[in-house]
Amino acid sequence: MTGLATTPHRDVAATGAELTERYTHSVMNTFGPPQRVLVRGEGCYVWDADGNRYLDLLAGIAVNSLGHGHPVVHAAVTSQLATLGHVSNFFATPPQIALAERLLALLGHQGRVFFTNSGTEANEAAFKATRRTGRTKIVSTVNAFHGRSMGALAVTWKPAYRETFAPLPGDVTFVEYGDAAALAAAVDDETAAFVVEPIQGEAGVVEPPPGYLRAARDITSRHGALLWLDEVQTGVGRTGAWFAHTETGVVPDIVTLAKGLGSGFPIGACIGVDASGALLGPGDHGTTFGGNPVASVAALATLGVIKRDDLLAHVRRVGDRLAAQVADLRHPVINHVRGRGLLRGIALYEPVAARVATAALRQGFIVNAPTPSTIRLAPPLIVTSAQLDTFVDALPDLIDIAQREGTS
Ligand SMILES: *Cc1c(COP(=O)(O)O)cnc(C)c1O
Repeated sequence: MTGLATTPHRDVAATGAELTERYTHSVMNTFGPPQRVLVRGEGCYVWDADGNRYLDLLAGIAVNSLGHGHPVVHAAVTSQLATLGHVSNFFATPPQIALAERLLALLGHQGRVFFTNSGTEANEAAFKATRRTGRTKIVSTVNAFHGRSMGALAVTWKPAYRETFAPLPGDVTFVEYGDAAALAAAVDDETAAFVVEPIQGEAGVVEPPPGYLRAARDITSRHGALLWLDEVQTGVGRTGAWFAHTETGVVPDIVTLAKGLGSGFPIGACIGVDASGALLGPGDHGTTFGGNPVASVAALATLGVIKRDDLLAHVRRVGDRLAAQVADLRHPVINHVRGRGLLRGIALYEPVAARVATAALRQGFIVNAPTPSTIRLAPPLIVTSAQLDTFVDALPDLIDIAQREGTS
């Protein structure tokens, strides 16, 4: 049983234009037209249907931690699939148990893990867990992004994402990100939780002032409220530490993970630290796929390679070098570089980031523009300085092109 009959997704010699045309007639139009149709990936590169190669500096939005087609992930997934692919949560599997233990060990705390298939579901589980405190008030932050399902959306800031879907789960207030005084004023003895990203990703890679998470911990503890850290984008080595909050020494109550955890295989986790691991009990929550053994081995393989290859140190090294090189360009349109490790935002003085991303794509680089004046880089954690340098070298030209196109 080989050949086309069993691989209908392998279109022979279909062009990008033909495939895009078919996409627009068959896939729901929630994302707008696709930028390219991609057919293959290897390491930090992907290829489109027309044979063009791209250096992937976005990694599927901070997802492909080990790049594309990593042999360890591939071997783990294929051998698990051949052994036992799925069992439901009526049953346990060794990979799921090992992954839960591993995540708790990396956090350095006791607790319990609920596995999901995505970031929004990890936050959804966390949201439900907060309700089990007996309180309903949630405090979130301006410009926060926590996902698109109804609960996660309720704590997401962007009014354009939320307003058409009202009513959402209520009792949510938003405070300025990074403003400890505003947080102290918003949290009271009826607050169930404060949910916050250690670095705001979709907002354009925005870091809070030093001491913010510590203050958030103090304020929430004072009122018996939970500190819920959304590390869906920042977790799993992305910032050069296992978790972005690690270096602060803050102990959160809930940590949510997803994006980079499975290096491309869909998996998320809601981790309840210490007593918070018992907020959700029998019958409180469920999932058919969450913690599936194939997804679990993908995550175990990802975590294993990050450790084996000392990628946390690598991420810090190449990430700092990247930020310094971009600053050294002293380009008049580049304001500064934000972020940590390999989660970086290049802040521009002009709102040309989307046009820079488009120009970059034409020259073989995948980046994105989370805001009109921010270019985001979130490459695979295995990216080399030499690969990053090719983008830094191209950047002044890309900005010039974007500016020219903006005025024509
Ligand atoms: C991407 C993201 C989510 C949502 O994850 P999905 O897998 O897209 O549902 C939630 N929180 C943060 C911080 C994210 O970056």
